[in-house]
Amino acid sequence: MAAVPAVKLENWASVPVLGYGTGTAWYKKAGAKDIDQETVDAVAAAISTGYRHLDSAEAYGTEKELGIAIKESNVKREDFFVTAKVEKGIGDIQEAIDRTLRNLQLDYVDLYLIHEPFFAKSDEELQSKWAEMEKVQQSGRARSIGVSNFLQPHLKAIMKTASIKPAANQIEFHPYLQHGDLLAVHRRLGIAVEGYSPLTPLTRAKGGPVDGVVSRLAMKYGVSEGNVLLRWSIDQDVVTLTTSSKEERLKEFLDVVKFRLTAEEVDEISRLGREKHFRAFWKSKFDPD
Ligand code: NDP
Repeated sequence: MAAVPAVKLENWASVPVLGYGTGTAWYKKAGAKDIDQETVDAVAAAISTGYRHLDSAEAYGTEKELGIAIKESNVKREDFFVTAKVEKGIGDIQEAIDRTLRNLQLDYVDLYLIHEPFFAKSDEELQSKWAEMEKVQQSGRARSIGVSNFLQPHLKAIMKTASIKPAANQIEFHPYLQHGDLLAVHRRLGIAVEGYSPLTPLTRAKGGPVDGVVSRLAMKYGVSEGNVLLRWSIDQDVVTLTTSSKEERLKEFLDVVKFRLTAEEVDEISRLGREKHFRAFWKSKFDPD
């Protein structure tokens, strides 16, 4: 079984660079009171394929399914890197993390994120929620804390009053959404970037300017086009989150450990990617008409 390599990032625990998401494809199937066995089986398949970094959120409605798959896996807790996110429960973060831990059947998560910044009407509101997140880490219920879908002004606001710096910001990241200098800003601040929806050029925004180079590099390295896109993200030190309902694809993704893109190849994809803008998630918040 191929293992996904882990990296030790500043201010952060060691984290496998490729994570398996329990949102997107899965979130509509769960959420009901009953356990969705298909989701449990999918996560179990990902774990037995070698994924140890598992991404979840209360909003996905899949925490219970993830918890069952982890429990039944016989893999030691410390070998997993489990992320959870608070969104609906933002009004009472202490209650939200307790509920999440009960659902996951875990004593702690490795990373707890504020799912999005849009609930906040002011910087002060973001700052007071961040203080609540710090209490979660201090109580041991999360090994590290961070944010998701935060832009520079949101980060700046919480950094003004934070006593614990966010370990990571989880954002949509692919060639058609490179966020200008946001990666460089994170690097300067020592905040790790997690990228979701890395395969967007192959899925939701097919038929774009990177198609040619992605397919040429897939041929060159003898890997799938998806793997070229995953590598493009990982080669920029972005901890990358994907998902699949298909075991063959999950296995195939693990081939990312077998090759690297050159700096010129990363740059070529980036340059072509900038010719198109596409955002799949939180569109109405980021790009309101
Ligand atoms: P990806 O861009 O990696 O897309 C994965 C999807 O692409 C799967 O559904 C898979 O389908 C499909 N796929 C893979 N390869 C191909 C191909 N060659 N042709 C066509 N379809 C293909 O990531 P997601 O957008 O799914 O997000 C991954 C995770 O990131 C989520 O599960 C969630 O945990 C997190 N996330 C976080 C957000 C946030 O706001 N913080 C927002 C969105 C996601 P198949 O099952 O057929 O293989």
